[in-house]
Amino acid sequence: MTKTLFERIIAREIPSQIVYEDDLVFAFKDITPQAPTHVLIVPKKPIARIAEAAATDHQTLGHLLLKAAEVAEKIGLKESGYRLVINNGADGGESVPHLHCHILGGRKMAWPPG
Ligand code: AMP
Repeated sequence: MTKTLFERIIAREIPSQIVYEDDLVFAFKDITPQAPTHVLIVPKKPIARIAEAAATDHQTLGHLLLKAAEVAEKIGLKESGYRLVINNGADGGESVPHLHCHILGGRKMAWPPG
């Protein structure tokens, strides 16, 4: 099976600015930041997108969200606030078929999103 882009980043085959790593998740700076602070946190397991997640992934998914909050605090966003985004499929704006949660902060976010 061909590795996803994010599996190659996790394997250090493609360089990234690593922010956090443990057995289940990997966080790194987005290469095209959409806010002053923009980090991606991804499960090491290559779940394509949230719509493809299985009930057996519940521990991984819970861990991903809890670690997203921890990473946001670690990078200084807890007090000012931040946005977590998961894009799913074409209309959702997904471009990499490996589940990832965007952590965006450092500016006031608009609502509704574009
Ligand atoms: P999405 O559009 O939700 O699928 O998000 C994919 C994200 O991956 C985009 O924000 C890209 O800027 C980011 N991205 C693509 N390639 C890389 C890379 N090599 N290193 C870091 N982030 C990347």
